[in-house]
Amino acid sequence: MGYLLRVLPLAILLALLSLPLVMGARKHGRGEGARRLLVRVYLTSPGDQQRLHQLGIEDVVLQGDQYVDLNVTGEELLALRQAGMEVALVVEIDTSGTAPHDWPQLEELEGRLERLAAAHPEICRKWQIGTSAYWNFPIWALKISDNVNVDEDEPGVLVNGGIHAREPLSIAACMYLAERLCEDYLLDPKVRSWVDELEIYIVPVLNPDGYHYVVSQGIRFPWWRKNLADNDGDGRFNPEADGVDLNRNFAFNWQNGGSDDPSSWFYRGPRPFSEPETRAFRDLALQVRPVAGISFHSCGEAVLFPWSNYVRPVDLDLLEHMAFQMASVLEKRARGESYSVMPLNGRVGQSSCWLYAALGCFDFTVEVGDEYFPEMARVPRLARTAVKAAYFLFDRVRGSGLWLRVVDAVTRVPLLAEVRVLELGEGPGAVRRTDPFLGRLRWLLDPGRYRVSVAALNHVGVTRVVEIEPGKPTEVLVELAPSAQTVPLGNE
Ligand SMILES: [Zn+2]
Repeated sequence: MGYLLRVLPLAILLALLSLPLVMGARKHGRGEGARRLLVRVYLTSPGDQQRLHQLGIEDVVLQGDQYVDLNVTGEELLALRQAGMEVALVVEIDTSGTAPHDWPQLEELEGRLERLAAAHPEICRKWQIGTSAYWNFPIWALKISDNVNVDEDEPGVLVNGGIHAREPLSIAACMYLAERLCEDYLLDPKVRSWVDELEIYIVPVLNPDGYHYVVSQGIRFPWWRKNLADNDGDGRFNPEADGVDLNRNFAFNWQNGGSDDPSSWFYRGPRPFSEPETRAFRDLALQVRPVAGISFHSCGEAVLFPWSNYVRPVDLDLLEHMAFQMASVLEKRARGESYSVMPLNGRVGQSSCWLYAALGCFDFTVEVGDEYFPEMARVPRLARTAVKAAYFLFDRVRGSGLWLRVVDAVTRVPLLAEVRVLELGEGPGAVRRTDPFLGRLRWLLDPGRYRVSVAALNHVGVTRVVEIEPGKPTEVLVELAPSAQTVPLGNE
C-alpha cells in the first residue's frame, strides 16, 4: 500500500499535541486552534455515539459500529477525553506525497466509461451532468436501459459513488455495476430484465476533483474527503482552508449538519447546494425522479437508511426493512456475517436524506468494505459484493408498490397531482407528486389495503381504496374530473 496507518496510544498522542507541527499540517497564518488532528474514537458503550453528538461532533466515518474517525481540534480532543471516550491518534507514516500506487487515475476511469458507452450504444448513454469546482473536470452520468435514448415509462434507479474523495471503493462499485449491466446484457436473462424494465442511472465519480487530488496530487493529506472548493477565494487550493463536504451540502436540514468552519473536514458549504457537484446531482435526480437509489461510500460494511433521529419518515418501516434485506445479501470480510444496518442522521444535509425528503426516493447509503484503500487484489471481490445491493434494489422496485397514473377524465391529459397514502400518516415523504409529463407516480409499499388520496389543481380530488398485491407492482389509473368552471371564458 502507498501508505499505512498507525494508531498511537493516547499518551504518545498527548505528547505529540505539544509539538508545533503535527501530521504535516501547514498551520502558518492560521490560529493555534485551527490545527486539526485525525483521531479514532472507539465506541465502547451504547451511549458513546450519543455523547459524540452532544459534543457537536458528527458521526462521520462510521467504521462498522466499533469506532469513528474524526478530524478534531485540540480542544475537541480534550473534550472527548473529558467525556470519557477512548481516543487514539491516527498518524500517517508517509507524508511525503505518495498516492495509493495502483488505484486508477481519473483519466483511466473516464476512458473505461467512454469505451463502455461506445461498445454498447443501444443500452448505454454517457453524458456530462456538470463540472467540478476547482479543476473543471466533467461529471459524467450513465443511463443504462433498453431504448436508451428515449425516456420510457419505467422505474428509475439512481446510483452514485465517489462523493467523498478518499472512498474509491464506492467508485469501483459503480464502475463494476455499469460494466456488468452492459457486458452481461445478452448473456444473463436477469441482467437483461433489469436493463429492459428499468432506467438505471449511474454517476460513478461525483467528486472528480477530490478523487484526482487523492490519487494523483501527492497525498499530503490522504484522508481528504471534500471537494476542492476555493473557500477563501485566493485562487489556490489549500487543504487547510478549502473544500466542502459534498455530503453535508444537500438541502435537507443543511443548517444543522457538518460544520460551518471551512477548515473542517465536514464543512457544509456557505449554503445548500453551493457546490457545482451537488447541483449537478440534484438536477439529474429532479429530472429522472428515481424510485430508489444507492449512494455508495466506503468504508464500514454497513447499509444506512433515512433516518431515525428526526421527524419520522412516513415510509420508515419499509425503508428499514429494505435496508435489512439489502444488508443480508452483502457479505462482510468476516465470512458468514452480513453488513450491518444503521439509520442515517436525518439532520446533516446528506444525499440519501435529501433524495427521500425531496422526491420520496428510497436511497440507501452503502458503506463498502472495511478499509479506504484496500490492496488492489481485494477490490474485485469487494465490488462484486457491493453491486448485490443494486441487484436487490432492481428486483425490489419491480416488487410490491403502487404504480399510479393520474389523468384528466375528459381530455385524458396527464396531470400533476399530489398523492398521499393515508395509512402512512403525516411527516416527511407524506406528499408525493406525479410526473407532469406522464401523470406517473411510483411508490414502494408493503402489500395490503391502502386509502390513496389524489388531488390536482382545478380537478375534483378523490380517495381510492387500493389493494397492493405482493411481489409485483399494482397499476392504478385515476381519472380526475375537472372541477366546476368558475373562470369566465373569453370576453364575448
Ligand atoms: Zn463517504
